[in-house]
Amino acid sequence: MSEVEALQVVIDQIDKMREDILATLSQLVRIPSITPKYPGINREEVIGGETECNKALRHTYEAAGCHIDMWEEEPLRANLIGVLKGTGGGRSLIFNGHIDTVPPGESSAWKWGDPFSGRIEDGKLYGLGSCDMKAGVVAQAKAAEALSKAGIKLKGDLILESVVGEETMDHNAGTTATIKRGYLADAAVVSEPSGPPCSLAVVPCSPGLFWLKITVKGKPTHVCVRGNFIWPGGEGDRIGVNAIEKAFFIADSLKKLEHNWGMSKLHPLFAPGHFTIGPNVILGTPPGPMVPFIVPHLCYIDYIVMYKPEESPEDVKAEVEAFLESVFDQDPWLRVNRPVVEWPHHWPSYDTPIEHPICKVAAEAHADVVGRPAVFHGFAAVDDATYLQMGGIPTITYGPGSLLVAHSANEHVDVEEVITACKVYAAIALKWCGID
Ligand SMILES: [Zn+2]
Repeated sequence: MSEVEALQVVIDQIDKMREDILATLSQLVRIPSITPKYPGINREEVIGGETECNKALRHTYEAAGCHIDMWEEEPLRANLIGVLKGTGGGRSLIFNGHIDTVPPGESSAWKWGDPFSGRIEDGKLYGLGSCDMKAGVVAQAKAAEALSKAGIKLKGDLILESVVGEETMDHNAGTTATIKRGYLADAAVVSEPSGPPCSLAVVPCSPGLFWLKITVKGKPTHVCVRGNFIWPGGEGDRIGVNAIEKAFFIADSLKKLEHNWGMSKLHPLFAPGHFTIGPNVILGTPPGPMVPFIVPHLCYIDYIVMYKPEESPEDVKAEVEAFLESVFDQDPWLRVNRPVVEWPHHWPSYDTPIEHPICKVAAEAHADVVGRPAVFHGFAAVDDATYLQMGGIPTITYGPGSLLVAHSANEHVDVEEVITACKVYAAIALKWCGID
């Protein structure tokens, strides 16, 4: 069988499996798998969900003819791997996705009052994790099952991975654990939703991401003497300093740096202005209870800083810190009472050259199935491709859905996109691993 014939056979097979693919996705969405280390989540209430989901997915891996490896790197959080052994002589490929989700928020905000409905309406399948990213995980697994059912034998090994803990960067329990366990390959495709900017973009790189925390000190005093410490002629910072206002000064200044980045940090695969410095938590408080009767003595601002894939994280940190130092120097209080600057988390970028064969194969597979050239674009967020790349595996992201509807009420995925993605995954496997 030629590659062209094989592709047609597997596409026909996937069309026959259409109802089964969507039913499997609905079933997985109905099994909650909230990531247990999410801040504010009670681990005891949600632990085991990831494992239950992977137990359900295991049937598809088995139907694909995979050798199964299911294990807990962390208690009660089972990763699932299925190896479809090749006949030999071909390149090996990993299909990777995560099974955990963020929490659903208020149930009442969801259609049918149910974050776990898994229902289809107007061509969209709804529910927490439908888009991010059970659709991708199911599409990859069903592609392998379709290949087997169509009687197509790959030369290279195809390794299916459904891991835990991605949503809290818990890669040591999930993707990094798969690498330590010995699952390596010549390339990998992560099935995170690869829109925006368009459905099913080929994504060879992501930004890097820092969590930046700035703690600003003030000086508490009675709120009614404010005039005395903010206007000329008064006591000034000898009696009071409002930590929230000092934080605003810093936030305003960082906006200017963000503006400079928007104008200067350009990348051919990202829209201008994608690399940003965004304040996402600001908490100012007086000593004692949160009531406005004492001038606030503390203010925290938490930022997400996103930088270009090829930039050195150390350089980015140094640039932001040097800028902040210059901001602190401009203010008499901050000059002496230096705010504390911390970097609680870092998620490095991944960056696979666009000329790499896995990019070429994915683009060809997309064009063959969809009938239009693939769009290459940078990933809007970050994903486990980073940790696969750190394990030495050239990795891209390609998957159904859009990040614009992930992590929010009424998350959904277009069912046609799920079926198309499944066909493209099968085509990628054919082209990359080769057929016997
Ligand atoms: Zn995700």
